[in-house]
Amino acid sequence: AAKAKGKGCYQVFESRMHEELLDRLDSESRLRDAVHRGELRLHVQPVVDLAGGGVAGMEALVRWADPERGLQQPGAFIPLAEETGLIAEIDRWVLFEACRAAADWPDTWVSVNLSAATLDLPDLTDRVAYALSTTGLSPRRLVLELTETVLMRDVTVTSARLEELRELGVRIAIDDFGTGYSSLGYLRDIPVDVLKVDRSFIDGLAGNARQQQLVSAVIQLGHTLGLKVVTEGVETADQLRLLTRMGARYAQGYHLGRPGPVEEQGQLSTNTATVRAGTVNVPDDFV
Ligand code: C2E
Ligand code: MG
Ligand code: MG
Ligand code: MG
Repeated sequence: AAKAKGKGCYQVFESRMHEELLDRLDSESRLRDAVHRGELRLHVQPVVDLAGGGVAGMEALVRWADPERGLQQPGAFIPLAEETGLIAEIDRWVLFEACRAAADWPDTWVSVNLSAATLDLPDLTDRVAYALSTTGLSPRRLVLELTETVLMRDVTVTSARLEELRELGVRIAIDDFGTGYSSLGYLRDIPVDVLKVDRSFIDGLAGNARQQQLVSAVIQLGHTLGLKVVTEGVETADQLRLLTRMGARYAQGYHLGRPGPVEEQGQLSTNTATVRAGTVNVPDDFV
């Protein structure tokens, strides 16, 4: 009887693994079709200039309108896209669409996230140059975001690659700064223009003096190196006040504006007055 039961358990286990595998293969094939079926959606989130209160830039954040499961956030499909190599196709789509949208905005920058596999594409610089020339977007207004972990894989190779991109005139941002095995050495060696302080440093900021000192020091460090510093994940008025007092210049977060479809959010870039009026949730006592 024990033997039979054991076998039954094994069969249940086996069939669950089988189901998971089928599910994964199914997601993979649907994701593979998503790009050419036009199921990707471009959302953008404002980056606010704390000095003037206006929108300084917009970050492009991809969504997938999966016909079976509805609108999917990146966390639900970017890992699969990275494992299967589909990410290069997705990043190419986002890059092009973001440049096209930003070309209609007066002077805000647009930032685009790139995965490791995209940074490694031999024709990445050509792709970026193509997106810029086709859409007419000035290179100065495009920022490419790469995480610390991606940048630090091979400092020599990465630096050469980034220099190539910067020669086009585009800027490079370190995303999620402080979450990788940060070595300050790479700030010396890798050519970057923008430092995005990860939201884990902003979370809990109000009640933690030590964390405030740390964030303040990181902001000063960035400024000393001549970088633009963006603090991510600002969710409360208290955090905004503290960051402003610390001399933070740029901030992003739900308190300042949530990501939304580019068709709706894009117009924020054309009118700083709307931001002050609270359309993106900026409080009256803002700055
Ligand atoms: P990220 O580049 O660090 O983008 C910021 C993420 O934080 C976004 O999540 C944004 O919606 C979220 N966020 C913004 N403000 C707040 C806040 O105040 N509180 C909290 N809790 N979260 C906030 P999202 O859109 O889900 O994207 C997650 C990640 O997926 C991005 O992190 C980026 O690494 C990746 N990703 C998004 N779009 C693309 C893309 O087109 N290509 C690639 N390769 N990766 C992308
Ligand atoms: Mg980013
Ligand atoms: Mg980030
Ligand atoms: Mg992130």
